[in-house]
Amino acid sequence: MHRIEEFWDLQSEATEWRRYLHRHPELDYRLYETAKFVTEKLASFGIDNIATGIAETGIVALIHGERGEGPTIALRADMDALPISEASNKPWASETPGIMHGCGHDGHTAMLLGAAKYLAAKRNFKGVVALIFQPAEEDGRGAQRMIQEGIMNRFGITQVFSMHNWPGMAVGKFAICDGAISSALDEFDILVRGKGGHAAKPHLTTDPIVIAAQIITGLQTLVSRKTDSQESLVISVTKLNAGTAYNVIPNFVEISGTVRTLKSTLRDFAEKHIRSCAEGIASGFDAEIEFTHRRLEPLMFNHTEGTNFAISAARGLVGHDAVDSNAKPSMGSEDFAYMLEARPGAYIRLGNGSTAYVHDPAYDFNDEALPYGIGYWVNLVETVLSP
Ligand SMILES: [Zn+2]
Ligand SMILES: [Zn+2]
Repeated sequence: MHRIEEFWDLQSEATEWRRYLHRHPELDYRLYETAKFVTEKLASFGIDNIATGIAETGIVALIHGERGEGPTIALRADMDALPISEASNKPWASETPGIMHGCGHDGHTAMLLGAAKYLAAKRNFKGVVALIFQPAEEDGRGAQRMIQEGIMNRFGITQVFSMHNWPGMAVGKFAICDGAISSALDEFDILVRGKGGHAAKPHLTTDPIVIAAQIITGLQTLVSRKTDSQESLVISVTKLNAGTAYNVIPNFVEISGTVRTLKSTLRDFAEKHIRSCAEGIASGFDAEIEFTHRRLEPLMFNHTEGTNFAISAARGLVGHDAVDSNAKPSMGSEDFAYMLEARPGAYIRLGNGSTAYVHDPAYDFNDEALPYGIGYWVNLVETVLSP
C-alpha cells in the first residue's frame, strides 16, 4: 500500500494533461480530440493493447501485471464535457464557446492516465487492469452503450470501479458507502387534456390549468403522505407548459418532471402512483390524461466486497480518518450505475475542496486532487490484484 507522498511527483504532469483537456472540451460521443489525446498518452506509457472506437469514441486499454495470472478488473473514467459557457476565469478555461468541463471529467481522465502511467511502469499486480475511458456520461447513455457493445465479455472484466470528484469535501478526503450510493433517475410527462374556451365563462370549459395545479399538489402528497419518511423519494415537477393568452382557457397543459429514489421498489411505486394520482384527479373533473414514464438511470449500488477494497485502498493512501466509509447517498444520478449492474464493484467520491459545485459555470476541477485519485487507483489495483 502506498502513501500519498509517493504520488506527488506525478502531479505536475497530470496537471498539464488536465488543463489541456479542460481547454479542449467535447460533448457526448463526439470526443475526437479527447480520445486521440488519451490514446497517444497510453501508447507513450508503453501500453500496446488499446481498443478504440467503442461507443464511437470510448477506449478500453489493458495493462498486464507481472505478478502472475489473475482476473481482469476495470477502472473507469468519463471524458465528456457539458454544454455550458464557462465562467471560471482560469487561464486554462475552455477555448470552445458554449462547452466546458463543468463536471470534472477532465480531472477523471487525467487521474486515470496518471494511474495508467504508474501501473504500466511497475506492473506490480497479478491479472489484468482494463482502463475504461467512457464517452457520454452526461447524457446518461455512454456506459450502457459500452456494455451493449460487449466490453464486459470481450475483455473478461470481473469487477468495475469508478470515482467522482466531490466539491464541498476537502481535498485528500474520500467518501463511500456500501449499498445504494446514488439515486435512480426517471422522467415523466403528463398531458392534461381538458376543453378550452373563453376565460369569462369557465363553466363552459374543462379548465386543464386548475386540474394540473391539483395534480402537482397531489404528486407532492405522494411523497409526504404515502412514502415512509425514513425512505428517500423525490418527485419534482420541473416543466409546466400551458396557454397563450390572458382571456383564453387552453385545451391542454403539459406537466413534466423527474423522480429520484434510492430503492427500486419506490421506483415502481412512483411510476404507478404518479399515473393513478393524475388519472384520478383528471377524471374527477372530466379531463383526460396521457402519461409517459421513462426509466433513465438505475440506482447505483456499491457491492460489499468492492466497497471494502475501495475503503482499504483509500485508507492506505490517506489514513483511516480521511475516508468516510458511511457516506450519505446522493440524489443525483450517475451512469456508472449500469456498469455496477453488469459487474460487482464500487464507486467512491474524491474531495475537490471548496470549489463551485459541478455543472456550475464557475466550477473547475481542483488539480490538488489529482495525486489522490492516481494514488487511489494504484492502491486499489494492488489490493484487488494482490498476488
Ligand atoms: Zn455531470
Ligand atoms: Zn460527472
